[in-house]
Amino acid sequence: MKYIDLRSDTVTKPSPEMRAAMAEAEVGDDVYGEDPTVNMLQETVASLLGKEDALFTPSGLMANQIAIKAQTNPGDEVIVEAQSHIYNYETAAAAVLSNVLLRPIEGRYGIVTSQQVKSALRLPVYYNPKTTLICLENTHNKAGGTVFPLDVLKDIYSIAQKHDIRVHMDGARLWNASVATGISVKEYARYADTITVCFSKGLGAPIGSALVGTKEIIEKARIYRKMFGGGMRQVGIIAAGALYALKYHRDELAHDHEKIRWLANALQNVKTISIDQNTVQTNILVMEVTKNGITAEEIAQKLKKEGVLLSVMSTTTIRAVAHRDVTMDDVQLAGEIIKKILLE
Ligand SMILES: *Cc1c(COP(=O)(O)O)cnc(C)c1O
Repeated sequence: MKYIDLRSDTVTKPSPEMRAAMAEAEVGDDVYGEDPTVNMLQETVASLLGKEDALFTPSGLMANQIAIKAQTNPGDEVIVEAQSHIYNYETAAAAVLSNVLLRPIEGRYGIVTSQQVKSALRLPVYYNPKTTLICLENTHNKAGGTVFPLDVLKDIYSIAQKHDIRVHMDGARLWNASVATGISVKEYARYADTITVCFSKGLGAPIGSALVGTKEIIEKARIYRKMFGGGMRQVGIIAAGALYALKYHRDELAHDHEKIRWLANALQNVKTISIDQNTVQTNILVMEVTKNGITAEEIAQKLKKEGVLLSVMSTTTIRAVAHRDVTMDDVQLAGEIIKKILLE
């Protein structure tokens, strides 16, 4: 069966043109820093985000965890949003790899306010944990692809600077935030010390993320990438896919946002699901199943039998993610099937 796969934008596959670019990539040993394609990717990403340096990593998780390791000491406290990827979907990596205490703060639509951050600051007494890092997510995955407002980000960054706290932005989908708002990724990056970006989601490259920051942090990050097993050799073959995606696929993310907007409109009057239209900002649609006597998992199973794949986020929520490998027609057909299943 050919599925309309809306589980995640990670399911995108490299196009023939991207594969051709990968096949032709010049390569070298990146552990020696000698892979010209990786070096070009790192320079490109650093410059796009207006930071001094960047480090290519095999996954977004590794980039996030390296950022935590490079900016904390064991026993430090790291403020995270309660529904964030770092807190929910990265095993207990921060506890194991960095020995830090994650302090979850519940945001609204995944956005914590500067007031919440202020209230979370601890008195500098020796028996309190020392807060050294704040992690924010833009766009916010679990909240439904919501964009972190720039003014809130600015406020939080200025509070952090005042208290000698670093800010890490998990910008796996920062590209989407920028396309949705017209605010450049560079402008967002001004208000964070380190940023993770992913090439393997909506951009459509098969593998890879990057961590961006000052030369000093990235130098440390390179050590931790090696320690965590992420030092790779002729990895320019993969970096070439990421470079291709940055060049040709970034602006196309707008189409994915249109697809999700269409789906959210089409489903908004279906009585057995509830959609908070405020969350419909980019390429993700989170729906709460309100139909009696059926779980989100059972709905997903029924949809699968009809050829539509969605992901189950909790016992009552399902998620659809638009990406470049599903067309508007696919999404419209999926919308009809979702309606049919939820109304039967
Ligand atoms: C996907 C994602 C990541 C990283 O995921 P990997 O699968 O490790 O590349 C990090 N943060 C957010 C918000 C994500 O959605």
